[in-house]
Amino acid sequence: MQDEKLIPLSALQHFAFCPRQCALIHNEQAWAENWLTAQGQVLHQRVDRGEPETRKGIRYERGVLVSAESLGITGKLDLVEIELSTGSMKPVEYKRGRPKRDNWDRIQLCAQGLCLEEMRGRPVRSGALWYWQTRHRDEVEFTSELREETVAAIRGVRDLLVSGQTPKAVYEKKCDACSLYDLCNPKLLGRDGSARYVDDLFKEVDEQ
Ligand code: SF4
Repeated sequence: MQDEKLIPLSALQHFAFCPRQCALIHNEQAWAENWLTAQGQVLHQRVDRGEPETRKGIRYERGVLVSAESLGITGKLDLVEIELSTGSMKPVEYKRGRPKRDNWDRIQLCAQGLCLEEMRGRPVRSGALWYWQTRHRDEVEFTSELREETVAAIRGVRDLLVSGQTPKAVYEKKCDACSLYDLCNPKLLGRDGSARYVDDLFKEVDEQ
């Protein structure tokens, strides 16, 4: 699979959060920085600056570039912990906010594990999410259900990117925390018939 067709790991989290957000960012290259994304970027820049180190039998590697050609995904891992006695690996992803009930972050983490498995040819059974806001580390087991959900998300992102379409806005509670809220305007677009009419006009032009 060619590099340009590889899906960035971050797109999986965007897609799991909201397919429209994923399309706006990855199909339409829209990016609105709010204080949430700005804090997240600062956090990841700090993480990337860290040098590899070994403590108490664990090797810590930061900013690790990975890909899984068979799945068509690629990205940069915040941290990989390698247990030197067994060689077992664990991806660790730093998040700005707090743990979520939905699997948005766990899907991205699981995809990281799938990349490590393919690249290093050994099973990766779990990973960890570290939440800045709550200073809390969540261990995440890569169960068969989570793996299936992750592969389905990869398929969903690919279909979305290939289609070039952007799903319509539907306002939900999570929109309030979305970095693209102003650009997306889900409350207006969700109920504004004229906006839908304009959308349909563009769709018809695209289809010609
Ligand atoms: S504001 Fe809501 S509908 Fe719009 S992109 Fe964000 S999460 Fe999706």
